Amino acid sequence: MIYADNAATTRTSRTAIEAMLPYFDSVYGNASSLHSMGQQAQAALVSARQAMADGLHCSPREIIFTSGGSEADNQALLSAAALGERKGKKHIISTAFEHHAVLHTLDSLKKRGFEIELLDVHEDGLVTPRQVADAIRPDTALVSVMFANNEIGTIQPIAEIGRICRDRGVLFHTDAVQAAGHVPLDVEAMHIDLLSLSAHKFHGPKGVGLLYARKGIPLVNVIYGGAQERGKRAGTENLPAIVGMAAAFTEANENLQANAQKTARLRDRLIDGLLQIPHSALNGARSPRLPGNVNLCFEGIEGESLLLLLDDRGICASSGSACTSGSLDPSHVLLAIGRPHEVAHGSLRLTINEETTDADVDVMLRAIPEVVAYLRNMSPVWKELQSGRRQFVL
Ligand SMILES: *Cc1c(COP(=O)(O)O)cnc(C)c1O
Repeated sequence: MIYADNAATTRTSRTAIEAMLPYFDSVYGNASSLHSMGQQAQAALVSARQAMADGLHCSPREIIFTSGGSEADNQALLSAAALGERKGKKHIISTAFEHHAVLHTLDSLKKRGFEIELLDVHEDGLVTPRQVADAIRPDTALVSVMFANNEIGTIQPIAEIGRICRDRGVLFHTDAVQAAGHVPLDVEAMHIDLLSLSAHKFHGPKGVGLLYARKGIPLVNVIYGGAQERGKRAGTENLPAIVGMAAAFTEANENLQANAQKTARLRDRLIDGLLQIPHSALNGARSPRLPGNVNLCFEGIEGESLLLLLDDRGICASSGSACTSGSLDPSHVLLAIGRPHEVAHGSLRLTINEETTDADVDVMLRAIPEVVAYLRNMSPVWKELQSGRRQFVL
């Protein structure tokens, strides 16, 4: 089995699993309890928070543990909106290719009377600092731009955008779920006010993440109840998961450069090899791009059929589309970078990591062109393209 779907989720690392185990069956106390087992749990919580803060270059007091990236995105946007509303600012700037955790939260804010402005994404999968600067108005409450896109892997100029927002006195949030553990993060140097991350995208467990909120930014609760997380996120802390996240984040950051180099070389082999397929194109610029992201469109095929046939050959890939629950809508990300509908349907996302080998790449470079050719052979659209009744786009 070749796993090339690491943008969807990753294997939990041995280090993370081993760090977690004691907190299931020996130190299982509630971190709020006053007895010694509770205090041991509390100490583990403190050191996990410190480890996350070290990795982000912030203070542990600026971290709220959440159930994952989605909750952190929700809390960041709802908090910035509430703060803006109190000051009469109801304009929010974001981008057309954010994750649905951001886009759907923005939809809910729109229903509450906020004006949501989604910046266009260029063909290369990038938003420019200039676009952000031009969009900021006196009533802008928040700018939210994702660090790296989950489908096409392009890395946004976050430090420059952060600089502009800081200069103009506008809050800046970044969904760094795909970036954390894969590219260096520094909330201080990058002028980030709010940042979301999720453990299961960097070899931590699922169901845990965090929101970084710069000191002094008031947060609204998404979950009400006890006084955990300074009263900003109620519920008994998921200590095993939090400890596992901290172990995974530390490990990922220690190996970040080496992993990135190793993975990027294989990524480039895949991109070069797959671009040999006629009428194919890479989605998003080659650089700056996450070290493990490969995303292409092949004209004249359906991405879904491609995935099923690759699965038969032991390759776990993704179309990178939002094609959940049988919806036939193509990916909003591919549409945002200007791919026409019919081309966007023929997408393939391979997200590899440091565990991927040259042999895996060889297998994929053999299987994918064969499967694409097979599907094109049966495709009525391909026949129309071949006969000239339909124009090639790629
Ligand atoms: C996976 C992902 C999320 C959601 O994180 P969960 O922990 O699964 O809720 C949000 N944003 C991006 C960019 C993601 O890739």
